[in-house]
Amino acid sequence: MTLHIDPKHLPEAQSGPRRYQMLIDGKWTDGEVGLEGERVSPGHGVLVSRYAFGSEGDVNRAAAAARRAFHRGPWPRMKAADRAAVLLKTADLIDARREEIARLDALESGKPIAQARGEVAGAADIWRYAASLARTLHGESYANLGDSMLGVVLREPIGVVSIITPWNFPFLIVAQKLPFALAAGCTAIVKPSEMTSASTVVLGELLMEAGLPEGVCNIVLGTGPEVGAHMVTHPSVDMVTFTGSTRVGKATMQAASATLKKVAMELGGKNAQVVFPDADLEAAVDAAVFGAFFNAGECCNAGSRLIVHKAVAADFLAAFEKRAAKVRVGDPLDDATKVGAIITPEHLKKIENAVVDASADGASVAIGGAGLASGAGQYMAPTVVTGVKPEMAIARDEVFGPVLSVMEFERVEEAIRLVDTTDYGLSAGVWSKDIDTAVTVARAARTGTVWVNTFMDGYPELPFGGMKQSGVGRELGKGAVEDFTESKTIQFHRGPRTSWWVDG
Ligand code: NAD
Repeated sequence: MTLHIDPKHLPEAQSGPRRYQMLIDGKWTDGEVGLEGERVSPGHGVLVSRYAFGSEGDVNRAAAAARRAFHRGPWPRMKAADRAAVLLKTADLIDARREEIARLDALESGKPIAQARGEVAGAADIWRYAASLARTLHGESYANLGDSMLGVVLREPIGVVSIITPWNFPFLIVAQKLPFALAAGCTAIVKPSEMTSASTVVLGELLMEAGLPEGVCNIVLGTGPEVGAHMVTHPSVDMVTFTGSTRVGKATMQAASATLKKVAMELGGKNAQVVFPDADLEAAVDAAVFGAFFNAGECCNAGSRLIVHKAVAADFLAAFEKRAAKVRVGDPLDDATKVGAIITPEHLKKIENAVVDASADGASVAIGGAGLASGAGQYMAPTVVTGVKPEMAIARDEVFGPVLSVMEFERVEEAIRLVDTTDYGLSAGVWSKDIDTAVTVARAARTGTVWVNTFMDGYPELPFGGMKQSGVGRELGKGAVEDFTESKTIQFHRGPRTSWWVDG
């Protein structure tokens, strides 16, 4: 497979990259220590962004601003309808700058531009959904506690929320957190990945334009150790919502426990699609190719394992390979590209090594298996590894690249056991026209989401998150704003109050 990449068509290559600053207390600022970051586009090998990076002092400034805005500012105290209006205005502004935001995510992460446009539109939709939930958030009342008592349970914003996001869906993942925190009346410190910070900075510009009061959303740029670690331990922070690797998620949860912060974790996955012989095999092939290679496999939800019935395995794989050969891999800025670049040269090496290790463990590489020569940037060939056994690393560990591991089964119980043989529990897919089979697998899978005769659809209305080591808590869904609140119970008494002590 040959790739044609031409960095000369990038204006960034001629005019130089934009430099992005941090947003603290409503002002654009450099870091106290003067740290700098930069991003070379994975698709072209061209310097596309420079950043002002922060450190502990900047997290302190952001936390102080968020605390002030929470205790003394208007945001937590205003009508939910007024907060919703700011979120709706933000959604409109996102739509208006969709092309620019999509381009930034495509340039910095290497994802295809057409896909990035869809993600930005999806993010705007989520901001609107959060606005609708803001107005429906309510507590409970209890009039059944006896004539002299009334119980009221309020939902109050939890306070200052630290939001930490990864590089694979920069604009979409912050939309799964920030608007819901804001809808609840919280204030926030946001840290995007140090590799894909530009679109989050643009979001900060839009929030200011939409009328978000100063200090309500602070954006601190920088690395995990320099910035993220302090956002997790800072005493002024009440909750941490993190999306990223299971390894860092565990460390984050442990660090947050020192001050007993609430945590929400969206972590890795090793998701299986199970194909039964009675399935619509054409649709299943399509979903298997899409599931394995979407976002170059750099996707928590990637269908990175195929568990296919022995009776159809050979035909299925032949059809898969034919279909996979048509997937266009290449320049993220090309409208026709389906699979873009790999995030860094080091990550490409890790993906290649995972395939080499799988061969050493006894699996076979059916297609792909290595990086593609591009001249600029780094790309991985869509790869299929067959003859995989559940105990092999390739069957259990998240590769985070376009690599599909194939296993075969004969009995339903065997398929269910294979689905569950990893430490992850994010999602699974089942392909069968038989309702009994589909329900049996869907109910047995220990995953936060199961798709039946479809794969990787997402709706703001539906909760998303992982079981086992794929996470803690859920995002989206009707409880998404409530997740950023605490309950407060107030008990009202009327009439004369007798002694509490029976013999008093
Ligand atoms: P990562 O864990 O390396 O980094 C995620 C974020 O955490 C980044 O902003 C990073 O700077 C920050 N970070 C790093 N060290 C930190 C520390 N010590 N304290 C605080 N913050 C720190 O993950 P990544 O490589 O950016 O993203 C890929 C991972 O994210 C994959 O494992 C993928 O499955 C997962 N992911 C999960 C979901 C989901 O919804 N479940 C969605 C997308 C990605």
